[in-house]
Amino acid sequence: MSGKTETGPGPFGVEVLSARDVPLGGPRAMTVRRTLPQRARTLIGAWCFADHYGPDDVAESGGMDVAPHPHIGLQTVSWLFGGEIEHRDSLGSHALVRPGELNLMTGGRGISHSEVSTARTTLLHGVQLWVALPGEHRDAARDFQHYAPGTVRLDGADVRVFLGSLAGETSPVRTFTPLLGAELLLDPGATVTLATDPAFEHGLLVDEGEVRLSDTLLHPAELGYTAPGSTALTLTNTSDAPARTVLLGGPPFEEEIVMWWNFVARTDEEIRRAREDWAAASDRFGEVTGYPGTRLPAPELPATPLKPRGRVR
Ligand code: MN
Repeated sequence: MSGKTETGPGPFGVEVLSARDVPLGGPRAMTVRRTLPQRARTLIGAWCFADHYGPDDVAESGGMDVAPHPHIGLQTVSWLFGGEIEHRDSLGSHALVRPGELNLMTGGRGISHSEVSTARTTLLHGVQLWVALPGEHRDAARDFQHYAPGTVRLDGADVRVFLGSLAGETSPVRTFTPLLGAELLLDPGATVTLATDPAFEHGLLVDEGEVRLSDTLLHPAELGYTAPGSTALTLTNTSDAPARTVLLGGPPFEEEIVMWWNFVARTDEEIRRAREDWAAASDRFGEVTGYPGTRLPAPELPATPLKPRGRVR
């Protein structure tokens, strides 16, 4: 599903971000479709990373098996459409990630976790998203939150709001910057108009179906970006089956960040320090118990300093 990246907005201001295929690593390497970050765009609000995967036949791919690894400066959002993942982290959390349930892990100063699809999973299908923490909170304490939102029925769509507010529904989950995260399941042929905060920029990720955002048709695995200023978004499912999408949003994140491996920081030095701390098994990241195997070693850093990147204006 990789393809060329179209830069620049279409006629009605929708910029199409195509995914590139990325092997997750591990012995049998499940592949994910990554739309953020990419050359054309680093962030949408504080959303700084978007991986979309499946439906993945676990019998064939081996499923997900990500050994303990560290994070700094971010929150991870796991949202499944199908299958089940066992999460363990150095806070001591041991949770099952299930379809329609948000699992939000905060790794400010440092956390580590493992993610393994469960034995009863046949098809694994979902998104893994990261949120950059703002400067004043980027050393936030480790945290893990779980939330199963109800379904809001609109004329033409079912909406589940896992972060922020949409369609009259507000998630109680705490974030460090204003954010929107919601799953929208559109009826065949339906058109839905959603009121949006004009301070927010948005990204609509299409999972299944063909969906028109304003006047731009989005295909599965594409992310349609809209700049701040809109008070509404109009989505049309042009397919004759339900279409599933995830809508992300937030006010533009004005800080530049340095992203490398599983770290979000501000400088090259901070990244190098975090890598050293992980290599030295520092208690900065704590310990994951119960994972049957060894933790992931950090890859080699490039010899040249990592460069900060910001939002594209
Ligand atoms: Mn992780």
